[in-house]
Amino acid sequence: MTCMHIRDIMKRDARTVSFEFFPPSSASAAESLQTRLGQFAALAPSFVSVTYGAGGSTRTRTHDLVIGLHEQGDLDPVPHLTCIGHTTGEIDEILARYAQHGIGNLLALRGDRSEAVDIGGDLSHAVDLVRHVVAFNNSGEHPDSRGFGIGVAGFPEGHPETPNQLLHMDHLKAKVEAGADWITTQLFTDNSHFYDWRERCELAEIDIPIVAGIMPITSLATMARMADLAGGTTFPARLQRRLIRFQDDAASIEQVGIQWAVEQCNDLLDHGVAGIHFYTLNRSDATTRIFQALGAGSSADLRPAHPDT
Ligand SMILES: Cc1cc2nc3c(=O)[nH]c(=O)nc-3n(C[C@H](O)[C@H](O)[C@H](O)COP(=O)(O)OP(=O)(O)OC[C@H]3O[C@@H](n4cnc5c(N)ncnc54)[C@H](O)[C@@H]3O)c2cc1C
Repeated sequence: MTCMHIRDIMKRDARTVSFEFFPPSSASAAESLQTRLGQFAALAPSFVSVTYGAGGSTRTRTHDLVIGLHEQGDLDPVPHLTCIGHTTGEIDEILARYAQHGIGNLLALRGDRSEAVDIGGDLSHAVDLVRHVVAFNNSGEHPDSRGFGIGVAGFPEGHPETPNQLLHMDHLKAKVEAGADWITTQLFTDNSHFYDWRERCELAEIDIPIVAGIMPITSLATMARMADLAGGTTFPARLQRRLIRFQDDAASIEQVGIQWAVEQCNDLLDHGVAGIHFYTLNRSDATTRIFQALGAGSSADLRPAHPDT
């Protein structure tokens, strides 16, 4: 498989379906992901994305997984890249290596600030990284004359650092005007937040595809982790009531979480979503069960029958 520019992928797949992986931190975790890649590939996603540890903590591991997937050829990898803690020289090195390998797209992020991450670096916000990648694209170093396709993050329930939602929308719009090709959202469990935010994006004249981020709750610990990672995410009472009913029964909790994600996906499909991005946590079983419950043998079954439906 040669990596394609996201605009070509979106033209080919009237609705994208994508999976997110994180780079494994041990040999056994790497082996376990490797054994699951076949199951992920069987679902024929439009692309898969690979996270990056802010400040470069997974720099080599992200690179190795991305290039490994690219060379295996069954899954089209989109690396995440965060800018905090990096000099522009370091970013250029990473971009040049991906370009040399023919990687077609990347997700441009600021990265989460934490005590472990040096928040210095030459670029403060994701918009600066988008501008930097566009400048790289214009240098002609990428084998595709359009350069990298660029994705950015969107936050249907807002971002903890910018409680002013109007201002936060301005910041998203700035990333789009700087050259982003698509938006992938933070995970959410209540679709009404996504629909309202999508309308607000439309009102702000943000007209690039918006891909919805879905993460099934597979345990109460996963939900706690989601709440921590995606600050501000709502877990509706209706969902919590179902989970509490089974709190001592791990298999039932997982079933409830998967069922909830299936309901979310069906509703998103009914509402003409441009794409669904599954936060897989490198586990193929939950994703496979969601596909089965949706009646989909592969991602192709989740695309609209006609491009305009
Ligand atoms: C799909 C997705 C994938 C992710 N993958 C990763 C990953 O691989 N690695 C990782 O470390 N993190 C990842 N994250 C988390 C992300 O890095 C954090 O949520 C981060 O806090 C925000 O990133 P951003 O790219 O939206 O930053 P930005 O767009 O820079 O926004 C960050 C904050 O700054 C504000 N802001 C933006 N521009 C300005 C400005 N000019 N002046 C003042 N304030 C401004 C925004 O309103 C927002 O509150 C991911 C998030 C999502 C949704």
